[in-house]
Amino acid sequence: MIVKAALGSGGGGHALLVHGGAGDSSGTTLDGQIEACRRAVEAAKALLEAGASALDVVQRAVEVLEDDARLNSATGGALTSAGTLELDASIMRGSDLAAGAVCSLPPFSHPVAIARAVLEDGKHVLYSAEGAVTFARAHGFNPANPTDMITAEARVALASVLANRVDTSPKGTVGAVAIDRHGHVAAATSTGGITGKQPGRVGDSAIVGAGTYADDALGAASATGQGEGILRVALCHRTLVSLATAGTPAQAAFEGLGYMKERTGAVGGLIVIGRDGQIGWARSTPSMPYAATWAQHGIMAGG
Ligand code: ASP
Repeated sequence: MIVKAALGSGGGGHALLVHGGAGDSSGTTLDGQIEACRRAVEAAKALLEAGASALDVVQRAVEVLEDDARLNSATGGALTSAGTLELDASIMRGSDLAAGAVCSLPPFSHPVAIARAVLEDGKHVLYSAEGAVTFARAHGFNPANPTDMITAEARVALASVLANRVDTSPKGTVGAVAIDRHGHVAAATSTGGITGKQPGRVGDSAIVGAGTYADDALGAASATGQGEGILRVALCHRTLVSLATAGTPAQAAFEGLGYMKERTGAVGGLIVIGRDGQIGWARSTPSMPYAATWAQHGIMAGG
């Protein structure tokens, strides 16, 4: 079953929507993940209201989410089958389609900030592994100590997956979409990937068009869920292109997830913002924590 919801009414004001990953969380775990999303919106809301760019707002929101070990990105991110962190992140600006991304990045506390530096540098869009480390160091980022970012919970989840049991920590990627007071949109996404992934596997979160997309002419989207499926249908780009006919972001997200399920069998979640500031989400998983704020409105959160 695919669940969708429309939030906010559009009307041209600023707006921000974040997600804490499509998954199968419930009870106090889900409550904690919703709280993590609420905190990220709280932190970025002040920037949005002060007139910051949508790009700055989504970066700030994702950095707060990356720091929160209740979610699967950066600190507390899912581990590879070798027990290492390989992080994927991307960020995109809708005004000029500028984008930056990193994949298979070893522990750094804020992969999205490195993706932002790639965007600002402008020479390339995506750096991987050692090349991403070299780029990050050259731009003033210091690697983190892996023991500070790998949690006991992530190790337990990996042991369970390697023993062919369920993932004990079924939590997802983080992401954000925003529109600023000038009508510019942006999106960002960051993840540890999937517990037990093969070293070198890159998911959708680092790939512009799949896990992240932003275009002032369309809107912005961030995806979460089974990355191989998201990649194969270029989910974020496809969903934004369909927005004109779907009518609302929630409906476009619903249709995008329906298409992915039908064509690839994959499930996940999407947050979407339209160029008019309407926001909405959909998920084909049991849970997807989110939080949002928009002009003249406080913070709304759920899962
Ligand atoms: N989409 C992410 C990946 O496949 C995982 C997730 O969203 O939970 O790497």
